[in-house]
Amino acid sequence: ELYNGSFNIEEDIEVEDLEKNINYGRFYWEDSYPDSHLFSLTNKLIKDKNPDFLLLHTMNIDDAGHRYGGLSKKYENRVHKLNYYFSHYVPMWQEAGYEIVITSDHGMDEKGNHGGDSKLEREVPLWILGDISKEYKEKKIDQKDIKKICCDILGVS
Ligand SMILES: [Zn+2]
Repeated sequence: ELYNGSFNIEEDIEVEDLEKNINYGRFYWEDSYPDSHLFSLTNKLIKDKNPDFLLLHTMNIDDAGHRYGGLSKKYENRVHKLNYYFSHYVPMWQEAGYEIVITSDHGMDEKGNHGGDSKLEREVPLWILGDISKEYKEKKIDQKDIKKICCDILGVS
C-alpha cells in the first residue's frame, strides 16, 4: 500500500533506487502476506542497508479484523503473533542502535470495520522505545504527532 508512486507487481516487489523517495523497499500486495516473512525481510534490510528510517507496515491483524471482527479470538491471536515477532526482533534492532515507534493507523470495531469514530476504531496504542520516549511518557498523543516524534528521533525539523 505504501510505495513509490505507481506499483508494478513484476518490478516493484523489491526496490533499490537512491533516486526514489523510498530508496530500499520490499513491498507486498496481499493482506494475508505473512507478518513473519515481513519481519524477516525487515531484519535483512536493516542488516544490509542500515537505513536511517524504516517503516514496517503489517497487515495480518487488519486482515483478521475484517474477516472475523475486532473482538474475535482470531484477531486476538494475530495480535499475540505480532507480539512474538516484536519480542524476537526489537531487542536486535535496539542493539543495532534503532529507536522504535510502534503504533497502528486505526483500530477495529466488533463487526470488522474501521474508518468510523468509535473508540474501538480510533484509539490505538503507542510505544516509543529509545531516548525520545522520556519526552512523551504518560502523554495522550494525537496520531498527527507521530511525524514529529519520528523527526525528533532523526534530528530533522
Ligand atoms: Zn483495513
